[in-house]
Amino acid sequence: MKKRLLILGAPGAGKGTQARKICELLDIPTFSTGEMLRSQMKAGTELGKKAKELIDRGELVPDSVISSLVEAELQSPHYREGFLADGYPRNLEQAHFLDRVLKDMGTKLDAVINLDVRLEDVVGRLLKRAEIENRSDDTEPVIRRRLQVYQEQTEPLVRYYREAGLLINIDGNGSIDQVWDSIAAQLQ
Ligand code: AMP
Repeated sequence: MKKRLLILGAPGAGKGTQARKICELLDIPTFSTGEMLRSQMKAGTELGKKAKELIDRGELVPDSVISSLVEAELQSPHYREGFLADGYPRNLEQAHFLDRVLKDMGTKLDAVINLDVRLEDVVGRLLKRAEIENRSDDTEPVIRRRLQVYQEQTEPLVRYYREAGLLINIDGNGSIDQVWDSIAAQLQ
């Protein structure tokens, strides 16, 4: 059974929704650097304050900050039986770091799910979500910047994991149920 997974996809591709379903099916926890940063922000830590400035502009938080959060968190017994990382890694630097940490722990990734969506559709989806969730990082200029950062920094990971033989490419343009059916078929 595949139990150490990543989910990749542009902002607004529906990663969060599908991630919850995958975790339920496989009985594994989500590993989310976005959530870790949001809890630092809520607690009002220095790290949280610095992160908020960057997040509100659609920029990535520096790799060094993310790496220290990830290394501590991944060693926790909570993730011993597996995990689904959502929103991590965001660039090649982080992907290499994750490979190293897992190797040091004597393990490795089993598969990487890529939700492949038309980028021109996700701006509309994100603006709708911004209205519903009232997220301060979801104004139109910030959304456009996040998509640009995704294309420049995160999209190269698709190729990286394809070459590593780990990629499961999923057409993410359909309904939530259609996308879920495609993912579930691949996880059997
Ligand atoms: P998310 O909930 O994954 O969309 O993350 C929200 C924001 O937190 C992102 O837009 C980034 O600014 C920041 N963030 C989350 N994960 C990372 C990461 N792995 N590397 C850098 N920045 C991140």
